[in-house]
Amino acid sequence: MPPVPPDVNRQRVRFGTGIRREISAEVAGLGKNHALVITTPGKSRLAREFAEYLGSKTAGTCSRAIMHTPVSVTGEALEYARSVNADCLVAAGGGSAIGLAKAVALHTGLPQIAVPTTYAGSEATANLGQTENGVKTTLKDSRILPRTILYDSELVATLPGPMSATSGMNAMAHAVEGLYARDRSPETTELALRGLRAFAEGLPAVLETPRDLAARENTQRGAWACGAVLGRVGMALHHKLCHALGGAFDMPHAQTHAVILPHAAAYNEAEPEVAGLLAPVAGLFGAKTAGGALHDFARALGAPLSLREIGLGEDDLPRAADVASRNPYWNPRPVTRDGILALLEDAWEGRQPRN
Ligand code: NAD
Repeated sequence: MPPVPPDVNRQRVRFGTGIRREISAEVAGLGKNHALVITTPGKSRLAREFAEYLGSKTAGTCSRAIMHTPVSVTGEALEYARSVNADCLVAAGGGSAIGLAKAVALHTGLPQIAVPTTYAGSEATANLGQTENGVKTTLKDSRILPRTILYDSELVATLPGPMSATSGMNAMAHAVEGLYARDRSPETTELALRGLRAFAEGLPAVLETPRDLAARENTQRGAWACGAVLGRVGMALHHKLCHALGGAFDMPHAQTHAVILPHAAAYNEAEPEVAGLLAPVAGLFGAKTAGGALHDFARALGAPLSLREIGLGEDDLPRAADVASRNPYWNPRPVTRDGILALLEDAWEGRQPRN
C-alpha cells in the first residue's frame, strides 16, 4: 500500500518551559502506557529523567542513537523495543534521537512523542535519513510522523553556543530551500519566512544570553516553522550536498549545513528567478544577496565557515562531488559535477560565496 501523504497539521504541538514534565499525561493521551525513551549516549541522563517522570509507564531507555541513523543501530533498538513490549516511543534529543525513534516506528508502527533539544526540525517531518555502507538514503512515510511534539525551552537552553549557531543554520537551510522548492505554496513560503525571521532575531539573542528562555522559545518556534517547511516540500542542492557529505564522510550534520548553506544559496541565486525568491532573505539581513548575507550571518555567530575546519580532507572533494552528482535530482539551477566541485572548493576554503 503506498504511504498516505504526510499532513503536518495532524501533529499535536506544544511549547512551554518545563513542559517535558507532562510526558506521562501525553503518553496517556495517546492511549498508551509503556514508553521506550530514546536518546543519544550524551543524553542518557535525560533518558533517566524521563523515566522518572513516566514512572510505571516506562518500558525502558535506549541511549544508543547516533548521527545519520545507521541501520545496524536501528536493528538493536528494534530488538530492545520488542523485548520490553514498548507501546510508544519518546525521543528526547536532536535529530539523531528523533531519527532512531522514526526508524523503530517504521518497523513497528509505534506512535512517537518528540521532545527536541536542538533546532534540526526532524520532529516536524515524516522524513527519515538512514545510512548503510556509507550511503545515506531518505524516505518519506506518513506513519513515522511523530504524533506529539513538546518544545521545552529549558532543554534547548543547554545547547552550547556553537551548536546553537550551527543547529539554527541547519533549520534555516530548510526554509531557504523551501523558498525555491518546486512544490512550494504561499503557506510554505509564509512558514519559511517566519522561521528565518525567528532565527535572524533569536540566534544572536541566545548566543548573548544562552539561558534567555523567551529567546530560546522564539528559536524553537522558528525550528518548528522551518521543520514544517522541510516536511511539506521537496529540498534541492543544499540538502543533497549535506546528505552526500554526511553519508560518505560521516561529516557532522549541523556544522555541514552551516558551511554549505551560503554556497548553495549563492549557486541557486545565480538563476534570476531564484534571486527574486531569495530576495526576502537578503532583505532580512539588509544585504544584497542571500548567499552573502548567510555567510556574514554565520561569521557573526561564530559558526564554522569552511569544510576544512570541520574535518573534510581536500583530497575528498572530487569524491564528494561524484557522490553529490550521482543521482539526478531537481534543483532550480541545473547541477553539473564541475559546478558542484567549484562550490565545494569554495566551501572547503571558507571563501565568500560567488555572487
Ligand atoms: P544530534 O541529535 O546528533 O545531536 C548532536 C549532539 O548534541 C549529540 O551528541 C547530542 O547528545 C547533543 N545534544 C543534543 N541536544 C543537546 C542540548 N540541548 N545540549 C547539549 N547537547 C545536546 O544533532 P542534530 O543536528 O539535532 O541531528 C542530526 C541528525 O538528524 C542527522 O542524522 C540528520 O540527518 C537528522 N535530521 C533529520 C531530519 C528529518 O526530517 N528526517 C531533519 C533534520 C535532521
